[in-house]
Amino acid sequence: MSPIFPEWPDDPDEPSDGQRRLVVQADPRGGSTSWMASGACHGIDPELFFPISATGRAVPQIDSAKAICGRCPVRQNCLSYALLTMPDGIWGGTTREERIAMRLRLVPSRAPAE
Ligand code: SF4
Repeated sequence: MSPIFPEWPDDPDEPSDGQRRLVVQADPRGGSTSWMASGACHGIDPELFFPISATGRAVPQIDSAKAICGRCPVRQNCLSYALLTMPDGIWGGTTREERIAMRLRLVPSRAPAE
């Protein structure tokens, strides 16, 4: 497991600095997650990266999260991880919906079998 965001309050491993940290399970499909500790989102309220929708009033929140991703030194690692594991929320400067669209563009379409 690699901590990257504030964790749940009753976690026995809660850090002494009082900050909550969300623990993200390493996913074998996503490879190493050691880059997570270097993310620009480290120490920022994780709720910013998990908007309740992709439209409407959530758009300013999404834009704020993406602005942080935009200056993140591990953005490409994060995006690659998210394209493989498809978590909810903003990862690598993209929403889940954007990653779904990216994956569809990455997979060549096949002609139906005749
Ligand atoms: S790209 Fe965004 S979500 Fe990913 S580690 Fe960087 S700041 Fe965090």
